[in-house]
Amino acid sequence: MAEPFLVESPNVTYSKDFIEAKYSYSTVHVCKENGVTKVRPCSTRFTFRTGRQVPRLGVMLVGWGGNNGTTVTAAVLANRLRLSWMTKTGPKTANYYGSLLQASTVCLGTGPSGDVYVPFRDLLPMVHPNDIVFDGWDISSLNLAEAMKRAEVLEWPLQEQLWPHMEKMKPRPSIYIPEFIAANQEERADNVLRGSMAEQVEQIRRDIRDFKESSGVDKVIVLWTANTERFCDIVPGLNDTADNLLRAIERGLEVSPSTLFAVASILEGCAYINGSPQNTFVPGAVELAAQRRVFIGGDDFKSGQTKLKSVLVDFLVGAGLKTKSIVSYNHLGNNDGKNLSAPQQFRSKEISKSNVVDDTVQANPVLYGPQDKPDHCVVIKYVPYVGDSKRALDEYTSEIMMGGTNTIVIHNTCEDSLLASPIILDLAILTELCQRITFCTEADPEFQGFHSVLSILAFLCKAPLVPEGTPVVNALFRQRSCIENILRACLGLPPQNHMLLEHKMQ
Ligand code: NAD
Repeated sequence: MAEPFLVESPNVTYSKDFIEAKYSYSTVHVCKENGVTKVRPCSTRFTFRTGRQVPRLGVMLVGWGGNNGTTVTAAVLANRLRLSWMTKTGPKTANYYGSLLQASTVCLGTGPSGDVYVPFRDLLPMVHPNDIVFDGWDISSLNLAEAMKRAEVLEWPLQEQLWPHMEKMKPRPSIYIPEFIAANQEERADNVLRGSMAEQVEQIRRDIRDFKESSGVDKVIVLWTANTERFCDIVPGLNDTADNLLRAIERGLEVSPSTLFAVASILEGCAYINGSPQNTFVPGAVELAAQRRVFIGGDDFKSGQTKLKSVLVDFLVGAGLKTKSIVSYNHLGNNDGKNLSAPQQFRSKEISKSNVVDDTVQANPVLYGPQDKPDHCVVIKYVPYVGDSKRALDEYTSEIMMGGTNTIVIHNTCEDSLLASPIILDLAILTELCQRITFCTEADPEFQGFHSVLSILAFLCKAPLVPEGTPVVNALFRQRSCIENILRACLGLPPQNHMLLEHKMQ
């Protein structure tokens, strides 16, 4: 496969199947000895190996008939067919704006005429979104064309062009346990599986195999973009270990649909990503993924308000201002908003949105004591009229020098599903790429893959899932650097350090 560029270095080799890079990973170890803080730079030699053969990727969406599910499917089709359509402000053409991989760039290095930028997607061989084949499940039986119309996200002239393609797509019947989502969702649940819990999980596994065989894709990734569920209690003996979780499914005990999908997916060896806030990944599901060496990732797409929060608070606190209060209102009128109008489902979202500034605050003991953190309030209201055009109003109040205060107010209006759709694509494509990356060190020369909890996806998630005991990073540009620098490491390139020393000399 032709690469958009070649790295010329004694540390990097290209074979037919792999790009192999030797890489020196520099870290700093800090410890206290006899009351003295000792700081020791260290370096570990890694070898990264990235498979060059890009597979045909299938993505199965749980909640395929929802606003996100229909919008992402429509967007990929529109891009593949190079569609354009007329609006009152002129013609528009299909694009992938909002996708980190497709629409943002990274600086490769410096050339004779300055910095050279390439699209993020050119760093390593990756699936192109136009080539993704979609399938999925929904508790609502509408075909994807009717469901796209119900979503009210895309302009009608575009919907008309997509109609004959989307009409043929029909969500598979899904697992519906009414108590997990809002009661107001019941009226759309006309496409549901019957039978015992174990039989339903078996059916989902059969669906995955059927899709793989009938579509001819090489790999399947399953992603939950269905309604937000209420949280599950973590109960010893029920969902605390992989064995207990599998036994609970056999006995039909309390297991949420999203966890049942996770289990089915993991047992089929397919990566599973959770785009909603609920605690799908109970300890038993995390253990099962580790045992089967299958990637899991989540939680909750980081699309609008939270994304901005993870930039703004990082900026304020990073600039030495003491943010004391963050108040976020939302109102939206799509089906997600309707579901979130129920208290238990709202609670899942509230939790997911609340922890996003914790790492930034904890990293600054100059401003914040151990128990000190900003007041943080999140409100979500359902207002049908605004549809998918979500409004987010935020107020940030910070203490500044000598007793002053600084208040920033932000009003954000945006089609929610047009923000989430490119994130869905990035999640699937990055996960697939990670499945082709292995690495070893001098101390541990056997090649291994990333931890089954795929924390590199944090940039795309509101409440990033990380391996137990490892740091959670919410700050957006740290998360972005993480992806960029790991991909650079796979090419034997140093991390982006922004020092520009060559321009700072006499
Ligand atoms: P939506 O309500 O339009 O779509 C959800 C779909 O899931 C519906 O079609 C519903 O019928 C289906 N569904 C519910 N339970 C199901 C089950 N058990 N199995 C299969 N299908 C099921 O919502 P949306 O706007 O597409 O958002 C989807 C999810 O993504 C929500 O949980 C939302 O909180 C989350 N999310 C969205 C954004 C965003 O920007 N749009 C951001 C972060 C998180």
